[in-house]
Amino acid sequence: MLHNKLPGKGTNIFTLMSMMAQQHDAINLAQGFPDFEGPLALRERVAYHIANGHNQYAPLAGVPGLCEQIAGKVLDLYGCKVDPETQVAVTPGATLGIYCAITAVIRPGDEAIIFDPCYDTYEPGVILNGGVTRHINLTYPDFNIDWQKVRDTINDRTRLLILNTPHNPTGYLWTEDDIQQLTDAVAGRDIYIISDEVYEHITFDSQPHLSLLRYPELAARTFAISSFGKTYHTTGWRVGYCIAPEALMKEFLRIFQFINFSTQAPMQYALADFLQQCPEHHHALGDFYQQKRDLFIQLMSPSRFKLIPTQGTYFQLAEYRAIAAEPDIEFTARLTREHKVAAIPVSAFYRDPPSQHVVRFCFAKHDDTLRQATHILCRL
Ligand code: GLN
Repeated sequence: MLHNKLPGKGTNIFTLMSMMAQQHDAINLAQGFPDFEGPLALRERVAYHIANGHNQYAPLAGVPGLCEQIAGKVLDLYGCKVDPETQVAVTPGATLGIYCAITAVIRPGDEAIIFDPCYDTYEPGVILNGGVTRHINLTYPDFNIDWQKVRDTINDRTRLLILNTPHNPTGYLWTEDDIQQLTDAVAGRDIYIISDEVYEHITFDSQPHLSLLRYPELAARTFAISSFGKTYHTTGWRVGYCIAPEALMKEFLRIFQFINFSTQAPMQYALADFLQQCPEHHHALGDFYQQKRDLFIQLMSPSRFKLIPTQGTYFQLAEYRAIAAEPDIEFTARLTREHKVAAIPVSAFYRDPPSQHVVRFCFAKHDDTLRQATHILCRL
């Protein structure tokens, strides 16, 4: 009998809700992925590189041309100068980058602080490495960070903070005050940071994304993680990347080489071409998704859901207290089964969920999909 290394963890909520949506022929506003295609020119470049001999192992840290494009992008966007040869790694998805970074940092007994609600991959990575997670709930309903709690939780065993901005599922964006508080909280301590920034290009109302790469003092202890799947509407390609100081990247790559060896080559060549040819794509992504957010808000305005403002990502939280009193897991199951719209129960992002009745909708969908889904949601 195999020992369960992740007690209490069943099939993840994204898989469950997508399966349920399929089973009940429901519109899937649950798992975060677009129902439209990425740029044709990019997809054609993948086909080109598959047809033209880029089908063998890529170098461990990534195709040099892509690492250079990534380094150029972070210099352009965040004023952060990184060496493409020693500080960038392309990974098969951001999730695996996060796992390798956790593995590089966490030794048995080390503590990692995570902020709930959070993406469900952080804690298992810590546990599998023998670490302990300390959970801090964000305030409700603003989802701010209670920095006093952070200071109170940090101790000599704290080795890692896992952060996420723009934040999934709330759409919260880190502020300059958060950055200052973080800088003070970790100063003089042997603490590393994983900054999950996979929605870096999706911020609204002209608000900037405060990448930790903008702040040299923080960047010196940070693994910054990003995702091409989110940026180019290609979540199934599984390509992301990590940026870290050279010494941290060395340990990251030591682990990565034994987990995946390298990342799929044709996608990397295609992404390198496309980043060079079409930087306007990522520059325009915030506006692209802001239109979808605004359409979703407008379409939902007659409904009895109370939308919680989102400042970034392609997610919208909605409180359903005026519609039903049941817990969110039951509500989303019933919504999928009976009304044919799937959403994510937000309690799934918590260890100790506060009493709230909130679900997450993904609006990375065709306008028509959003119209069909909101037509149903407005009748509830
Ligand atoms: N990050 C996406 C979400 O939050 C999905 C990732 C996944 O399905 N593992 O929905």
